Amino acid sequence: MFERVRIVLVNTSHPGNIGGVARAMKNMGFSRLVLVDPKAFPDEKATARASGATEILERAQVVPTLDEALEGCNYVVGASARGRHIPWPVLDPRELASEWLSGREQLEVALVFGREDRGLTNEELHRCHKHVHIPADPEFSSLNLAAAVQVLCYELRMAVLGQEKGAAPDNRWGTEWDIELASAEELQRLFEHLERTLVAIDFLDPDNPRQLMTRLRRLYLRSHPDRVETNILRGILSATEKLTQPQD
Ligand code: SAH
Repeated sequence: MFERVRIVLVNTSHPGNIGGVARAMKNMGFSRLVLVDPKAFPDEKATARASGATEILERAQVVPTLDEALEGCNYVVGASARGRHIPWPVLDPRELASEWLSGREQLEVALVFGREDRGLTNEELHRCHKHVHIPADPEFSSLNLAAAVQVLCYELRMAVLGQEKGAAPDNRWGTEWDIELASAEELQRLFEHLERTLVAIDFLDPDNPRQLMTRLRRLYLRSHPDRVETNILRGILSATEKLTQPQD
């Protein structure tokens, strides 16, 4: 049911939490776990906490960087326990499930979870189309990692079960999108190209970049660019770059 949704854990410190996540996933019918540079894995504490979900641990992919974890994804969601300096579109888990459901066929999803002690970095959060926040008590808003994964997986499952019962999904993506959405890699290349070009035309001062790239990322990610749109934008950037090069 959830082959196209992967759970990505970044730099997890406690292997027990990885096991807890595997169990939470299997309970809800998820199977794809990606671990970005975990502190300790494999580990017997992970196996113990996974109970019967060891096959998820055995099949877990371990990668050194978030980039590799996001390969092939076109809908990246970062789970965050607190608000950040530059606000991003934030959904609660139910809203996320509803948005995901209406585009399910065309979305390759990564749900990204942060470190136990300090969550996700701003840079990691800026790779995401959306942020999801579990509206816990603001006085004590940080859930255990496996508990946070549980809540999200549960909501996605409930959304699918609701649809099977005949509830009409709300449609946020348009009925038939003709072109595939740009992948995380394509978007990353677009942003790198944009940054290079903005430096070349002296719009962005690399010594004083302020929040320009963050704001531009947020703008583009909000619109979920597709492949053709991304290529058009890169074409504009290439043409702009050409103008900055000496003509002969
Ligand atoms: N102390 C960290 C929270 C770490 S909890 C901080 O202040 O950011 C580990 C991970 O679980 C978080 O990075 C996030 O991905 C997820 N998580 C915990 N509580 C959450 C919440 N209320 N909403 C969304 N994700 C949450």
